[in-house]
Amino acid sequence: MPACEWGAMYCDSHAHLESGRFDPDRDQVIARARAAGVGCIITCGSDLETSEQAVRLAAQYEGVYAAVGIHAHKASSAVCGGPEKWSVDEAAMRRLADLAQQPRVVAIGEIGLDYHYDFSPRDAQRAVFARQLALAAEWGLPVILHSREAEGDFRSLLEAAPPVRGVWHCFLAEAPFAQWALARGFYLGIAGPISFKGAEYLGDIVRKAPLDRLLIETDSPYLAPHPMRGRRNEPAYVVYVAEHVGLWRGLAGAQIGEITLANAHALFGVRADGR
Ligand SMILES: [Zn+2]
Repeated sequence: MPACEWGAMYCDSHAHLESGRFDPDRDQVIARARAAGVGCIITCGSDLETSEQAVRLAAQYEGVYAAVGIHAHKASSAVCGGPEKWSVDEAAMRRLADLAQQPRVVAIGEIGLDYHYDFSPRDAQRAVFARQLALAAEWGLPVILHSREAEGDFRSLLEAAPPVRGVWHCFLAEAPFAQWALARGFYLGIAGPISFKGAEYLGDIVRKAPLDRLLIETDSPYLAPHPMRGRRNEPAYVVYVAEHVGLWRGLAGAQIGEITLANAHALFGVRADGR
């Protein structure tokens, strides 16, 4: 990893910088991240509009990269038809293809299934997820994956899809799913919940996973880690996530930062030197 003029050693591999909650002070949020040693941030779209914003932010700020994709919550924005049969909206896929080719787009995401909120019908979620997996494979881009209370279908769709590389972001599933994901070559994205009370089961997963398959992330503005829990999260706080991961590995937070930055470079090609 090339040395960085601002001494960067962390990558926040998952944030939502386009969120309106950053509108009042986005410049300062990104400056604080840099001052904390967070040299790269991957900002993730959730639909076409926020994916476009992610591409714009990546063009605007050094060290910011974009992921473009349609989240499970927004799957109904990318389908036609009705409850008897949903089909993927081809115009939406063409716009996604266009976004995926923009500079500094490093992944398709975040994409997946969410049966906790069920904001979109489940068969629409499955159709849009499966299509984006196929497109990511076709385009040679890694994926940023989301699954909540949908692990069975999530695993089946990934097993049926052409091979893709990627990360299971904000991993909170049971240990057998971690084993499955690691065996398939996926990375585990560890977020603020590693610092919460009752995180022992997650800590155990972190302790047993190969170090070269861990990424750290904030998912900001959501899920602020301890001691910032309850506040608006921001990329600078990925340093706290690194510290908590380090507690489970007998390593300093800075060491976890360097290792996970190298992992992010390996998966996404992101760099921490502002280029
Ligand atoms: Zn997210």
